[in-house]
Order: sequence, then C-alpha cells, then structure tokens
Amino acid sequence: SKLKEGLDKTRKGITDKIDDLFNSYGEIDDKLFDELEEILITADVGMQTTMTLIDLLKAELKVRKVKDVHEVKTVFKDVVEKMLTEKDNKPFSIEKTPTIIMVIGVNGVGKTTSIGKIAQKLKDDGNRVMIAAGDTFRAAAIEQLKVWGDRTGVPVVHQSEGSDPAAVVFDAIQSAKARKVDVLICDTAGRLHNKVNLMNELAKVFRVIEREYPEAEKEVLLVLDATTGQNAIQQAKVFNEAAQITGIVLTKLDGTAKGGVVLAIDSELDIPVKLIGVGEKVEDLQLFDAHDFVEALFN
Ligand code: GDP
Repeated sequence: SKLKEGLDKTRKGITDKIDDLFNSYGEIDDKLFDELEEILITADVGMQTTMTLIDLLKAELKVRKVKDVHEVKTVFKDVVEKMLTEKDNKPFSIEKTPTIIMVIGVNGVGKTTSIGKIAQKLKDDGNRVMIAAGDTFRAAAIEQLKVWGDRTGVPVVHQSEGSDPAAVVFDAIQSAKARKVDVLICDTAGRLHNKVNLMNELAKVFRVIEREYPEAEKEVLLVLDATTGQNAIQQAKVFNEAAQITGIVLTKLDGTAKGGVVLAIDSELDIPVKLIGVGEKVEDLQLFDAHDFVEALFN
C-alpha cells in the first residue's frame, strides 16, 4: 500500500531491526529488552515513550505467558496499537459546518502544501472550501496558496505581503459567510524564533474568530515535520502554549527513518495525530488510523 511504501525508511529503521533481533535471539531476557530499547530510541521514539512501551511489553508478555522469543513481535505490535488507540485518536473529519481550521507550524514543515492537500480532500468530499492566506510575512506562501487555489478551484482570500494576518482572517470570515462556505482553512505565520510575537499574533487571530465566527466549529491543526524527529516534539510544546491544538498533521514520513516520532507525539503530548504526509502528491496526505499505521509499519 501507499502507506506502507511511505513508511519504507521507518520500516528499515525499526521493523527490520526488530525482526533481526527477534530472529537471532534465543530467549527473552534483559539483554533483549536493552537492544529493543536502543532500536526504538534510535528511531526517535524518544526515551520516555520507549520506557513506557518496554514496560507495557514486559507486562503483556507476563499476562500472555509468552516464552518463545518469536512471539514477542506480535505482542509488541499489539502494545503499540493499544497505546495509539487509547487516546481519542479519531481520524480527521468535518463534524459540523461551518468549520474553521487554523493551520499552525514553523516555516518549512509543509504547512502550505498540507493546506492545499486538505482543501482538495474536503472539496472532494463535497464541501464548499475557502482558504485564507494568513501568513502575510512570506510572499511566497501567499503565491503558493494561490497556485493551490487555481489547481483545486478553491477561492483564496489574501492581502499584500506584510498586511495584518488578523485582517486577512476577518475578510475571509465575511467572505466565507457570504458564500456559505462549509470549511475555511487559515494559514498562519510560522516564525518560531520570536515566540512572544507569534503568540500575540495567534491570540489576535483567535480573538477575531471568536468575535466574527462564533457559530463555526474550531479546529487547530499543528503541522510537524517528521524528519526533524524529537525536535518536532519541542515545537509542539511551544505551540501548545500559544494555541489549543486539536490535532497534528505529521508530514514527510516518507523522507525519514524517524517515523517512531508518531509514537512519541502520541504518548508525550496529549494531542491526536490526525493526518500524515507520506509524499508530495495530494493523495499522499492520509487520515491517520492507528490500526492501519501499525499494520503498515510492522507487517
Ligand atoms: P511551509 O513552509 O511549511 O509552508 O512548507 P511547504 O508547504 O512549502 O513545504 C516544504 C516542502 O516540503 C515542499 O517541497 C513540499 O513539497 C514538501 N512536503 C510537504 N509535505 C510532504 C510530505 O508529506 N512528503 C514529502 N516528501 N514532502 C513533503
């Protein structure tokens, strides 16, 4: 499958090594767990999450009275899936219209591309979609969104570079109401180096939304780049202080062996992964489903 293909590098980083380990090992002992721990940490699962997973695995092996090392992988797979499904990891969907989706994240993570892909997806599902080019600090981001708009036939509300993002969102909301848009997707600036500015700016945009569009269902998606591994977790922690994030879009999983970061995000942040990017095409942005993910990763 496309998902499996997209996880190729991560499969090499995690699954192939786990398979080698379990195939070459004679018994279930501390050394086996130590080696598993090292594989997981190397694959950016993160120290804390790795420890949690190993503890869960040990407990589950005891419960199931597993003695054969070849059965450990199946139990491990179940433990990972259980961890991923324990939280409310509902796949991304539009529950109610109108919905306004704020898309936040650092420059370069794939924010603009993800907005274009989400717009296409929602349009294909039969929604009236509109995009607001709220990252007014980058002319390139505005241009790129216009290209996506042309490609998908989705209107893009924009102003000139340097204008007030809150003003763009204000305009977009009026236009969305007039055109009875189902989903308004707003880009935002992603200059993380100035945290205070970023927070103030996001807060201002949120105030406009509260005031002008109280009837809209709100979704705040944080876009993270999987190739940055543990750094993505740090970004999420900073953005989490600035906004009530409702879901994560994890891009570029196809470009990294660090796909283990999905597990770290799930267990260290209380935010569900909702969409994952496994390539540059529109269809490469997929709804995250824990079961499918685990099957694609381990089988
Ligand atoms: P922004 O600065 O956050 O708006 O980032 P862009 O949307 O411009 O994306 C940066 C680059 O990442 C572009 O070349 C995209 O094509 C690429 N990209 C985005 N998502 C994915 C993905 O899931 N897989 C791969 N391979 N590339 C991606």
